[in-house]
Amino acid sequence: MLDAEFFRRWLTAAAALVDEEAARLTELDSAIGDADHGANLQRGFTAVTAALAAGTPATPGAVLITAGKELISKVGGASGPLYGTLLRRTGKALGDAPEVAPGDFAAALREGVAAVAALGGARAGDKTMLDALEPAVAVLGDSTDTFEAARDAAGQGALETIPMRARKGRASYLGERSIGHEDPGAASSALLMAALAGAVRP
Ligand code: ADP
Ligand code: MG
Repeated sequence: MLDAEFFRRWLTAAAALVDEEAARLTELDSAIGDADHGANLQRGFTAVTAALAAGTPATPGAVLITAGKELISKVGGASGPLYGTLLRRTGKALGDAPEVAPGDFAAALREGVAAVAALGGARAGDKTMLDALEPAVAVLGDSTDTFEAARDAAGQGALETIPMRARKGRASYLGERSIGHEDPGAASSALLMAALAGAVRP
């Protein structure tokens, strides 16, 4: 079972990975966007870590809703509302259970990803974060062993955005010139899934 502490560990690990990879995320965004994705997420996840350090909410759902609110209020740009929605919707789907089974979390995260697609109007193949998130949630299952498969699927999905032409977000303004670069949001989503797998065995 996964408790609130597991979810705090996940998001704290995600914040550390975002810190480590901020320069790479910004570099990816400088190729097909406006070079702020690393800084945007660093600001957001720093706020998430601070909010959770001030006191871990009692339930998994409350941890994710708290984190989602921080991302929405602190991250400028497209990715803040999208990542905020991902975590808030996942948290809402978990309800107020003090512990959740991996399979219930997988189902909740699928709802979160669907909410991202609904908010941004994007789908797989549009060269966005969804190209990492959708393959990841597709392989999440009833055991935490599947979290590693989700990490790998997200990483692979992010790489597969390289030959894609962007159809959503700022990168879509580049048309053909968006081809040949990894999508920054897909890259950061892969970090989020890597942090999830890493949180299983502290
Ligand atoms: P901005 O584009 O406003 O500068 P960021 O640089 O923080 O915001 O985030 C850019 C990332 O957001 C993109 O790489 C892409 O993955 C994601 N993104 C942008 N628009 C959408 C959308 N409509 N649906 C899903 N993801 C999107
Ligand atoms: Mg940007």
